[in-house]
Amino acid sequence: MGHVDHGKTSLLDYIRKTNVTAGEAGGITQSIGAYTVDLGEGRKITFIDTPGHAAFSAMRARGAQVTDIVVLVVAADDGIMPQTVEAIDHAKAAEVPIIVAMNKMDKPNVNPDKVKQGLMNYDLVPEEWGGDVIVVPVSAKTGDGVDELLESIYLQAEMQELKANPERKAKGVVIEAKLDKGKGPVASVLVQNGTLRTGDNLISGTTMGRVRAMIDDKGRTVKEAGPSTAVEVLGLEDVPGAGDTIFAVEASLMKKVQEERKNKEREQLIREPKKQRLEDLFGDAAEGETKELKLIVKADVQGSVEALRGSLEKLSNDEVKVKIIHAAAGAVNESDISLADSANATVIAFNVRPDSKAKTLAERSHVEVRTYRIIYELLDDMEAALKGMLAPKYQEIYMGKAEVKQIFNITGVGVVAGCLVTEGKLVRGGKLRIYRDNVMIVEGNAKTLKHYKDEVKEIAAGLECGCAIDGFNEIRVGDYIECYLIEEIKRA
Ligand code: GDP
Repeated sequence: MGHVDHGKTSLLDYIRKTNVTAGEAGGITQSIGAYTVDLGEGRKITFIDTPGHAAFSAMRARGAQVTDIVVLVVAADDGIMPQTVEAIDHAKAAEVPIIVAMNKMDKPNVNPDKVKQGLMNYDLVPEEWGGDVIVVPVSAKTGDGVDELLESIYLQAEMQELKANPERKAKGVVIEAKLDKGKGPVASVLVQNGTLRTGDNLISGTTMGRVRAMIDDKGRTVKEAGPSTAVEVLGLEDVPGAGDTIFAVEASLMKKVQEERKNKEREQLIREPKKQRLEDLFGDAAEGETKELKLIVKADVQGSVEALRGSLEKLSNDEVKVKIIHAAAGAVNESDISLADSANATVIAFNVRPDSKAKTLAERSHVEVRTYRIIYELLDDMEAALKGMLAPKYQEIYMGKAEVKQIFNITGVGVVAGCLVTEGKLVRGGKLRIYRDNVMIVEGNAKTLKHYKDEVKEIAAGLECGCAIDGFNEIRVGDYIECYLIEEIKRA
């Protein structure tokens, strides 16, 4: 895992290229989401090539711990970047040890000490500085250090004393799955324990099937796959989800388990999955369940992030501890939501909002995202949550949003934004919030809301409107206007 362009793909490519044995040379390498390299003497490492840490946590949210070790790639000329921090926090939340591959060491302007210093800021203390984090300088370009990296990974694995039993029936996890026109449902499965064989009966999530064929990461048809190898499995009846666990079972068991699972899933659909909600925190705490209020903090600027982190952590009391598992400047993204989902945390968004993908994901995974614009309101809420007195008197009802397409200067009125309503509707009397690049820059009331020449009560998605905001003339093309109604909440 690591920041974009720090060399994850290059490093993996280099490792693949140099670990192709004679028999495999020229063979088609499959993209099955995982790749095994042979260090000799029976020592093998399987790299999981998930597209980023968000996917990693998405799998974890489904209960699948897929990796034993995380290799964090940090470019030595660039240092710790936002996605590096995200990756660190995802790995920490999963309690998986981190090995740092300090990449691009061939470049002239590298600064290894700065990288190490940066790691220290996230409690990753390099071995040579007295800590337990292995930092290996590498270059995906020249290949320098790659052997050392592989050895370090192996060493770390040995220290963890990871064991599996190849004799038992297979248990694995789905890394990727798709519907292939010719082959039907195809699932990349990482076998985690036991040995998977062709002809085995499989159960995965709500689907099942029989292993018709298996193809390994080098494109070869194989008859069996042992622990820590990944294979493409053909023969499932449906496409399973990434992160689903897969079991080889007796035929008689298959039908029974299948039915039970379907029932259970139906029940779960009816009963919403239980996620941390601030309102419920005290109730949980009283039952002795929650001892930690886990938060992810996103804010418009780094200064606010630090201020919030400090203030929030100070709210901890004897019964409940505030734990900030990730904090960064910027909009709430998918990575934040998947981390919150897997760690059962609440996302605090200060002067920022979720981007559209994050919003969808949050709704789907029932992750609570609380947006604030005033720091003491935020702290009040958190304090109240900790004391179990959180009872918001008012709530916002999201009405819709519009994109600013044009700006008009109209004498007597001021600046009018020509907008296209893209979601829901804008309503007169509603509160407006203006976002630029997902950062809230101002809130106010609509001075006018017009459809062509007519003042209107509301304007629905797909329509254009002219909107002037009371006291705000700095609106620009590309800004978003969100519309809310404020409603009083009746106390139960
Ligand atoms: P990813 O986004 O983390 O997968 O990064 P890529 O593997 O795509 O690498 C991003 C860029 O950095 C590419 O242009 C690579 O050629 C370059 N790059 C990757 N590793 C190295 C390295 O060790 N040395 C140098 N000089 N360039 C590298």
